[in-house]
Amino acid sequence: MKRIDGKAIATQIKNDIKTEVAALIDNEQPAPHLAAVIVGEDPASQTYISSKDKACKEVGITSSIYRYPANLSEEELLEVVDFLNNDDDVSGFIVQLPLPEHIDANKVIQRISPEKDVDGFHPQNMGKLVMGLPSLLPATPYGIMLLLEKYKIETSGKHCVVLGRSNIVGTPVSLLMSRKASPGDATVTICHSRTKNLKEICLQADILIAAIGQPNFVTADMVKEGAVVIDVGIHRIPDEKAEKGYHITGDVDFENVSKKTSFITPVPGGVGAMTIAALLLNTMKAFKKDF
Ligand code: NDP
Repeated sequence: MKRIDGKAIATQIKNDIKTEVAALIDNEQPAPHLAAVIVGEDPASQTYISSKDKACKEVGITSSIYRYPANLSEEELLEVVDFLNNDDDVSGFIVQLPLPEHIDANKVIQRISPEKDVDGFHPQNMGKLVMGLPSLLPATPYGIMLLLEKYKIETSGKHCVVLGRSNIVGTPVSLLMSRKASPGDATVTICHSRTKNLKEICLQADILIAAIGQPNFVTADMVKEGAVVIDVGIHRIPDEKAEKGYHITGDVDFENVSKKTSFITPVPGGVGAMTIAALLLNTMKAFKKDF
């Protein structure tokens, strides 16, 4: 079993970005600027936004955070989006999901300028992804593709089973894995809550990508010997023995599944570490208008 070290790859990517940003500044150009909009107090979102802010500072990308209370109206949020779309100083921005229930997330996403949509969720970017055209890719699927590429994991002709069909992870990663590209060229099966014989399908997977949102859902009896397993899930499990009062686990029972795999991502330190690195890469692309 080889453990895929997302943290190490993310560090390499961040170091490369840091060098590139330093060169821009040496040439008296402005630093790229990533803005984030957060509405409400969702703890996981707060953590993600803080990590993003820290990562930007590490590499020299300007970071700004627009924080609003949960009672911000949809109209007010759309005005913030318009403001950021029109601010030439901002290279790209994200509106942190989930949004409070009274705000239609799809309406907000569609208002973001596709050129500044560093989360890659705008229908124009999603449409380009479907057509195999260059675009800003959603950060988590992009991070997964980078891990497969860096570890030289063969995907062509392999059977890839994706657990989950969300717009953020499952659907875009399925599309990327089936694209005529490298990594890609896989035969993809997407599973969701209505899938029958889930275990039998998982057992056929050469590459299993779990983005299901259920802690330790994928057990060793669901995984073929020698499979590659990518665990997207992130869960805080209350744990009195842990210093923070919880530990982090994924959608995969790592301890037992890892004994059967050729490659596997740990949680934490796997896909999660790559998501922010991919977001920074997207910010560089948006800054250079290179996608
Ligand atoms: P969603 O809840 O949006 O989607 C979960 C998907 O899994 C749905 O398609 C759902 O099916 C399917 N599903 C849920 N339960 C079952 C089941 N018992 N059997 C089969 N399918 C099931 O989650 P996300 O895609 O947003 O996130 C997935 C996981 O990844 C979460 O743990 C999340 O925290 C994590 N995550 C991690 C990121 C990272 O940076 N590492 C980034 C984003 C998410 P249906 O469509 O039928 O409801």
